[in-house]
Amino acid sequence: MSLNDLAIDVPHAAAGAAAAELRAALGDRVLLPGDDGFDAARTPWNVAVAQRPFAVALPRSAGDVVDVVRAATLSGLRVAPQSTGHAAAALGDTDLSHTVLVSLRGLRGVEVDAAARTARVLGGSLWNDVIEAAAPHGLAALHGSAGDVSVAGYALSGGLSFYARAHGLAVNAVRAVEVVTADGSLVRATADENADLFWALRGGSGAFGVVVALEIDLLPIADVFSGMLLWDASRAADVAHAWAEWSASAPETATTALRIMNFPPLPQLPPFLSGRSVVVIDGAIEETDAAASALLAPLRALEPELDTFARIPAAALVAVHMDPPEPTPSATWHAMLGGLPADAVDAFVASAHAPGLFVQELRHVGGAASRRPEHGGAVAALAGDYLLHSIAMVPAPEAAPAATAAVRQGVAALAPWHIDAVALTFLDAPGADRAVAFGDAWARLRQLKLDYDPANLFAAARPV
Ligand SMILES: Cc1cc2nc3c(=O)[nH]c(=O)nc-3n(C[C@H](O)[C@H](O)[C@H](O)COP(=O)(O)OP(=O)(O)OC[C@H]3O[C@@H](n4cnc5c(N)ncnc54)[C@H](O)[C@@H]3O)c2cc1C
Repeated sequence: MSLNDLAIDVPHAAAGAAAAELRAALGDRVLLPGDDGFDAARTPWNVAVAQRPFAVALPRSAGDVVDVVRAATLSGLRVAPQSTGHAAAALGDTDLSHTVLVSLRGLRGVEVDAAARTARVLGGSLWNDVIEAAAPHGLAALHGSAGDVSVAGYALSGGLSFYARAHGLAVNAVRAVEVVTADGSLVRATADENADLFWALRGGSGAFGVVVALEIDLLPIADVFSGMLLWDASRAADVAHAWAEWSASAPETATTALRIMNFPPLPQLPPFLSGRSVVVIDGAIEETDAAASALLAPLRALEPELDTFARIPAAALVAVHMDPPEPTPSATWHAMLGGLPADAVDAFVASAHAPGLFVQELRHVGGAASRRPEHGGAVAALAGDYLLHSIAMVPAPEAAPAATAAVRQGVAALAPWHIDAVALTFLDAPGADRAVAFGDAWARLRQLKLDYDPANLFAAARPV
C-alpha cells in the first residue's frame, strides 16, 4: 500500500451516480470503462503500466478542470493529474478504482514573451512545445533529455537538464503556477500571491492540485556546443575512468552524462547500434567553440568511433540523448552518489552488463544544481555529485519482475557510494522514500498538504 492509498475515507458513492455527475460536468470529455477511447486515454507513456481508473477526464480548459475536481469531490472520488504518464510507474501501486485520471494531454499551448524572456505554458504542454515556441526568439528552456515529457510534471519535481550545472534545476525557473486546488478553486500562486502554495507546488507538484498553466523563465541561448562521443563497450573501463576524472574538474558550464547501453538486435535501430553494447558520453558545454574543444580534448584523445560534438541550435539539444521517441515500456531506479572514485567506476562498468539491463547511466550534477537559490520552493537543489540511473525494458507484462530486479541490482551495485538523497523526477517506481528529497522542508510540506488538501483528494506519482 502506498501513501496515495492512505486517502481519508473517500465516501463510497454509487458508481452510477458518480458517473452521471462526471458526465453532467464534462459531457464527452469524460470517458468511462467501455466508452470508445477509454483504453487509449488511460494508457500512459510508460505502456508497461496498466492504469485502471474509475474514469478519465480530458479537460480542454481550466474551467473543465474546475468542473471535474468539483464533480469528483461531490462523488467521493479522488483525482490524479497526469500529463503524459512518463512517471506512471510511480503510481503503479496506487489503486485508481475510485480515482478520476485527469489527463492534461488536451491542454497544451505556449506563449512566449521574448522581451521578458518568459513563457506561459498550459498545464499539459510538453517541452517540445516550449522549445519550438522559444527557438525563433533565440531562447531556450531548462528541458530534460526527452522533449515529450511535460513541463508541469518535470519542472515541479525538480527537472535536471543539460544546462543544470550552469543554471540550476528547472523548478527554480518557475515564476507562477495556476492550479485548481482541492476545494475546486482556480488559484494563482507566485512569490507574492499564495506564497505558501507556490513554495509547496515547487516540489509537491500534483499532490497539491491540477496545474492548468505555469510561467517559466527562458534562457538567452540560441545555440550550444553539444553532441556525443561513442565507443564500443569493450572500451567502457578506459572511457568511464577518463570521464570520472575529467568530470570531477569540469567547469559548471559543462553538464554531461556517461552511459553504457546494451541495444537489442532490432531492425528499427541504426545498424551501428543494433545488437551492440556501446559506451556514450553526451551533454552540453556553454563555452565558445575553442574553449569547448579544448575542454573535450582529453576525451577525444580516447578516439571515439563517433564524435558529434559541435555547435548546434539550442532546439536540437533535446535530440542528443536519443531518448525513445514513442511511448515505451520501461522500469527504472536511481540513486545519488557523493563522488565517483576509481573503485566506484569499476563497480559501474561491471554492473552494466548484468542480464536485462538496457542502460546504466551516470549524470554529472553538482554546480548550480546543488545550490539552493534564496527564494526556492520545497525542492530547489539536488544533493550529490552524480546521479546513477538504471533502465530496463519491459517488452511484456511478465517481464516486469525481472526488469525491476535488474534495475534495483544495477543501482545496488554502487551502494557504498550512495548518499541519503533522491532526485524526485527520477523516482519512477513505488516504494522509494520521497522524504529525503525534501530534507528539512518535508515537515512544512506535509503541514501544507494538510492545509490545502485535508482529504487527500489528489493522487500523485510522488505523494506528500
Ligand atoms: C525517457 C525519459 C527521459 C527523462 N529525462 C529526464 C531528464 O532529463 N531530467 C529529469 O529531471 N527527468 C527526466 N525524466 C523524468 C521525468 O521528468 C519525470 O518522470 C516527470 O515527472 C514526468 O512528467 P510528466 O508530466 O511527463 O509525466 P506524468 O506521469 O504525466 O506526471 C508525473 C506526475 O507529475 C504530476 N503532474 C504532471 N502534470 C501535472 C499537472 N498538469 N498538474 C498537476 N500535476 C501534474 C503528477 O503528480 C503526476 O503523477 C525522464 C523520464 C523519461 C521516461
